[in-house]
Amino acid sequence: MRARLLESHELAPEVRHFVFDVPGAVELQFKAGQFVSLSETLAGKKITRAYSIASLPKGNRFELCLNLVHESAFSPHLFAMKPGDSVEMTPPLGFFVIRNPAREALFVATGTGIAPFRPMVRDYLAHPDANQLTLVFGVRYENSIYYRDDFEALAREHPNFRFWPTLSRPDDSWTGRTGHVQIHLLEAIGDRRDLDVYICGLKAMVDDVRAILKELGFDRKQIIFEKYD
Ligand SMILES: Cc1cc2nc3c(=O)[nH]c(=O)nc-3n(C[C@H](O)[C@H](O)[C@H](O)COP(=O)(O)OP(=O)(O)OC[C@H]3O[C@@H](n4cnc5c(N)ncnc54)[C@H](O)[C@@H]3O)c2cc1C
Repeated sequence: MRARLLESHELAPEVRHFVFDVPGAVELQFKAGQFVSLSETLAGKKITRAYSIASLPKGNRFELCLNLVHESAFSPHLFAMKPGDSVEMTPPLGFFVIRNPAREALFVATGTGIAPFRPMVRDYLAHPDANQLTLVFGVRYENSIYYRDDFEALAREHPNFRFWPTLSRPDDSWTGRTGHVQIHLLEAIGDRRDLDVYICGLKAMVDDVRAILKELGFDRKQIIFEKYD
């Protein structure tokens, strides 16, 4: 199975949104939150990396949100792809999907860890029994709040959805939340312990948030996470 690049555009410096299709497939079936694995033989060695799908199912198309890791094995190859180029892929996989939209949920992302939440927010809110949902999204700078317009529009349309971007390196003009995502957990959770928390990003953040939740008395089954490294 191969994925063909249709287009890509910059979301922020060194972060791009990619649109692929799967030639020969009518439909690519997956659940919001799943990932694909992409492979290429580079310098004689086969390299495979996983990427969360940043879109809802739509025909044979899927989208990714990726950042460039300098002098690394695979992401520079994807950033060098031109429209029409293709790359080997596996069908979508993974268990980082909404467990129960009737339960209140907290989504916690940093950086490109926002990728699976882009479709998951829509998936959750589309459910007839959707409960309260809060997305806490941590990035360094204001221009790195990827998909900000989409999330803000969803928050306006859905009173049960709160979008809380937080900046670790804000400039003076920023009046919103600041600091790491961890700081904002308690405000989102309050006294409640009956919500599900979904976490996605690099290991250090994911492990830290999990430790805080366990300390607060959350059951392991209520903490659903995807680690990128
Ligand atoms: C299930 C899953 C889903 C993933 N989804 C995404 C995604 O949607 N978008 C995405 O950009 N990456 C995603 N990743 C990470 C991706 O698979 C690669 O690890 C990443 O592209 C780096 O690969 P590389 O070969 O360029 O770097 P490598 O040569 O493998 O170097 C790895 C180094 O890069 C760091 N690193 C890994 N991922 C990132 C990242 N995203 N940002 C900054 N540093 C990173 C690691 O900590 C490590 O130090 C996902 C990983 C998993 C396991």
